[in-house]
Parts: sequence; structure tokens; C-alpha cells
Amino acid sequence: MAEKFDAIVVGAGPSGNAAAYLMARAGMNVLQLERGEYPGSKNVQGAIMYAEALEAVIPNCRRQAPFERAVLEQRMWLMDERSHVGSHFRGTVDADEQPTRYTVIRANMDKWLSGKAQDAGALLICETTVVDLLKNGERVVGVRTDRVNGDIFADVVVLADGVNSLVATKAGLRPRVKAHDVALAVKEMHFLPKQTIEERFNISGNDGVVIEMFGKITRGMVGTGFLYTNKESVSLGIGCMVEDFKSTGVSPYQLLEELKSHPSIRPLIARRT
Ligand SMILES: Cc1cc2nc3c(=O)[nH]c(=O)nc-3n(C[C@H](O)[C@H](O)[C@H](O)COP(=O)(O)OP(=O)(O)OC[C@H]3O[C@@H](n4cnc5c(N)ncnc54)[C@H](O)[C@@H]3O)c2cc1C
Repeated sequence: MAEKFDAIVVGAGPSGNAAAYLMARAGMNVLQLERGEYPGSKNVQGAIMYAEALEAVIPNCRRQAPFERAVLEQRMWLMDERSHVGSHFRGTVDADEQPTRYTVIRANMDKWLSGKAQDAGALLICETTVVDLLKNGERVVGVRTDRVNGDIFADVVVLADGVNSLVATKAGLRPRVKAHDVALAVKEMHFLPKQTIEERFNISGNDGVVIEMFGKITRGMVGTGFLYTNKESVSLGIGCMVEDFKSTGVSPYQLLEELKSHPSIRPLIARRT
């Protein structure tokens, strides 16, 4: 590869896809590189999407984006080993209003937004990892990939390889991330019939519930659990600071197993009542 592009975007998550889409739509010759097999294949998120941010990129996104459920109810639970105390807020949306938040499944969302970038003319190459930036003096002139003869040149390189960008760290553009700055979360999706979800969470149509959980479920570590309703699945996860996992020796999967068997959670994800 010795071609030169106007811009190279590293990563096909929300940031990379938005950057690739906007630049391609403006007529630039854009190459996007993603290490995963397809956009979204590597990405874990709760996930709630804030529609106004997406709308700034794709104005009529609400009619076409693969949103799961509109988040109309937010529950906050303080939990001990066997019970919880909680509060919840349930909003309403009038006919002339739009919900502000939606649950999403990242694999679907990333594929959709990436499709927009490609439709606008961006060239996406997957299964290609950027290992370094190419520089001419202080100026970034391209990227080095893990492919044979994999140097590619561009006037602009956008690093959208995640909040802990290893490429930016290696290039000296940001300090190394420390364990006490980083949280680690794990999540599972529990597939359930749509009707079961609506009965269990007291919702109908496209409405959704999210639950944020605190307290003893994190065994004294700084962190939180979450449960989000999708159309036909429930996303359940928990995360804490990496430093805390290191010092306690508790694994994230251990916490998730404990959360799944918590009496307040177990009936919400059970396959049969
Ligand atoms: C468990 C969890 C729950 C979360 N829940 C929410 C939520 O509900 N709502 C919310 O708004 N945010 C949530 N977040 C945060 C959200 O996931 C991030 O803010 C978001 O993913 C950042 O998007 P991004 O495009 O910058 O990076 P990413 O989504 O991390 O995408 C980076 C992409 O770059 C690719 N990549 C990385 N390195 C390279 C490389 N060297 N070469 C090529 N490709 C590369 C990756 O494969 C990936 O596709 C959550 C995060 C976690 C971990």
C-alpha cells in the first residue's frame, strides 16, 4: 500500500465512524482502519446512546438508527447482599417531543454508523491494526499497520482507537494510562421474549428501563452495576476501578456471577418465571 489519502481514521467505533462520515460527506478521500472483523466486533458498552449527540451528526437518526428502547425510566438501586432499596424516575414524552436516550446494541449501532460513512464514500478496511504513526519531523504523515508493506500516508490522521488510545500513547501524544485512572467492566446479554421483558419491567411498546446499581455488589470497590432493557434482551454488567481489582484479587467475572445470582436481579434475567 503506498496510496495517499486526505484523511486516515483509526477505529470504527462511534467517534471514528462520525469522523469518517463527516469528512467523507465533505468530499474528502477517507480511509478508515479497524482492527476488528467488522465495526462493533470489539466493542463493549452498556449501552445507552444519547440521541442529541448522534443527531448532530445524522440529523434524522431517530427514524433510521437501530435503537432498541427509549429510556423513559431510570432506577437507582442501593444494594446489600440480598436486597435493595431504590428510587426511580419515570418520564413521559408528549407527541411533539422526542426521547433523549435509547438503549442500543453496539455491534448493530457501529455497523449502521459505519455503513453511513461508507455510503458517504469512506473506504473501510477491517482486520487491520495501526501499530504506530508515521512522522516527518514533528508532522504526522500517515500510519504503520500490521500488514506487510502496511505504511499508508495521509494529510490528516484521526486517532479514534478508544479512550485509552495505545497509538497516541506510543507516539508520545498522551501519557501512559495508569491503573488507578481506568475502570474495567464486563457485561452479558440475556435474551428473553419481548413480552417477558415488558411484563417484568412494567413497560410497553418501545419504552425501556435502565437500572444503575451501587453498594455491596462491588464488595467495597469503587464501581457500579447496570441493567438495561433492549427489545429482546437485557444487558447486565458491572465494573470497578482496575486498581481495586488488582488490590482485592477479585475478578470482574466473579462480581458478575454474584450480581446474576442476587435475589433482586435473578428473577429479572431468568429464562422462566
Ligand atoms: C462496560 C461499559 C459500558 C459503557 N456504557 C456506556 C453507555 O451506556 N453510554 C455511553 O455513552 N458510553 C458508555 N460507555 C463508554 C463508551 O463505550 C465509550 O465512550 C465509547 O465506546 C467511545 O467511543 P470511541 O469510538 O471513542 O471508542 P471505541 O468505542 O473504543 O472504539 C474504538 C475502535 O477502535 C478500534 N481500534 C482500537 N485500536 C485500534 C488500532 N490500533 N488499529 C485499528 N483499530 C483499532 C477498536 O476495535 C474499536 O472498534 C461504556 C463503556 C464500557 C466499557
